[in-house]
Amino acid sequence: MSEKKKIVIGIDLGTTNSLVAHIRGESPRIIPNPRGSRMTPSVVCFKDDGQVIVGELAKNQAVLNSENTFSDIKLSMGTDRILPVGNKKYAPVEISGFILDSLKEYAEEYIGCNIKDAVITVPAYFNDKQRDDTLKAAAMAGLNVLKLLNEPTAAALTYGFTKKKGTRLLVIDFGGGTLDITLMEYKNRVFRVRGVGGSASIGGTNFDKAIVDYILKDFKTAYDLDLSHDKIAFQQIVIHAEKAKTDLSSTEETQIMIPYITATHKGPVHLNMPLSRKTLENLIDPILGEIERHICKTFEQASLSPEWVKTIIMVGGSTRVPAVENLVKKITGSSDMAEDMLGSSQTKSQPDVAIKQIKKNINPDEAVARGAGILAGILEGSLTDIEFHDITPHDLGVEDDKGEFVTVLPRGTAYPAQKYHLFTTTQDYQKEVCIHVLQRVGTNGVKPVSLGWFRLKTDETRKKGESNIDVTFSIDANGLLNVSAVDIDSGEIEDITIENKIVN
Ligand code: AMP
Repeated sequence: MSEKKKIVIGIDLGTTNSLVAHIRGESPRIIPNPRGSRMTPSVVCFKDDGQVIVGELAKNQAVLNSENTFSDIKLSMGTDRILPVGNKKYAPVEISGFILDSLKEYAEEYIGCNIKDAVITVPAYFNDKQRDDTLKAAAMAGLNVLKLLNEPTAAALTYGFTKKKGTRLLVIDFGGGTLDITLMEYKNRVFRVRGVGGSASIGGTNFDKAIVDYILKDFKTAYDLDLSHDKIAFQQIVIHAEKAKTDLSSTEETQIMIPYITATHKGPVHLNMPLSRKTLENLIDPILGEIERHICKTFEQASLSPEWVKTIIMVGGSTRVPAVENLVKKITGSSDMAEDMLGSSQTKSQPDVAIKQIKKNINPDEAVARGAGILAGILEGSLTDIEFHDITPHDLGVEDDKGEFVTVLPRGTAYPAQKYHLFTTTQDYQKEVCIHVLQRVGTNGVKPVSLGWFRLKTDETRKKGESNIDVTFSIDANGLLNVSAVDIDSGEIEDITIENKIVN
């Protein structure tokens, strides 16, 4: 294989299936695997002879070799889980590395050249450790990650790409345990993320819990029995609560029936209670309030009003709850409902609409990979007239002498960006200062994460407060953070590039 021009591929490293995309001409194309499938199961199997198999073949033999076959490995990224295979042990990072290695190979075969660079998508709620693990898995596959792209942003890129005149998007990704909000605009061939927000602790399971509490209370009132400590009964209630919630997305009333849930000296006791959509909406009202606060906060932090939004994309199972949809309609003032499928094999151009639309059922099968492919195309220079600008999702700063976090680059800063902060010494005749670079995920009160540190020699003839130490945070177009410090009077200078660390 020959080394040609720089090629960047876009990878959707999914829990169940993974896809790889590349720009061809003006549009992102999904690269099929050698079996001709556009999706490769994220399954890895280790054979007795040491062979490692990835994809359909691994999936097909899973029943016969279940002990040495691994799926859903994405759910274990960021954990210390160890996966034993014979007398060897593998980490989730390594399993993901095998999947990425295969996708890279498919792309190299298909495009016909060596590939080093990639854009890889991750769930927006992935924490630092999970993102770091994704970068490590890529490194194992010999891939240099130019950007870890949030999945909802990737879906928005795919959607925006179809809008020739541009659009302004609100993406709500509301799943089982997390709420992710993204504001993005596409104008004059420039994609610009304007705001990100949400919570890693609000999801459909909070709705389930509200129903569970209601059932337990009702049962206690009716039978004077507390089922919360009865493990088996409780588990059944949790399952039926989720089912009732799902039913109530398409019907106004449902019946929760669990025969023989418990027994007393009088005999078996059955659980049989009606639940209406209205009651459910009352039960989840405080959670809806939380969701509303998060959406409004995201607009506020982006200095945008809900009227700014033109199109709303709703993804994730919990957006099917009618009250969630109504809430989003209320906040954004949208009246029209439209179903839309994205990610079909051809990206077709759609007429722009003046009214605000809620797009549901965005097909995540290919939309995320296509979004990664679009960004890959921008970064490799094939989509020369399109730009993508992201923002920092977390506060970046340094630790002061009291151990407090001092913000230098606040969350929501569009990059490339550069910000300065002037510090001074806290002791007389200080010889050096330590610059400890921190990232604060979440809000005040959350312990910041250390990104690295370095020492800077200071003018030791000066008394405390006399030195002028200028600390500069720079983030390049790919999100790579560099922090430098200079003692303005002595001219001493030091810096650190946060290795392998993409601001995501
Ligand atoms: P996801 O992570 O996107 O698969 O979303 C999973 C969450 O969506 C779970 O909490 C499900 O209970 C919830 N969910 C799936 N389908 C529905 C539905 N029809 N109505 C309400 N919630 C749903």
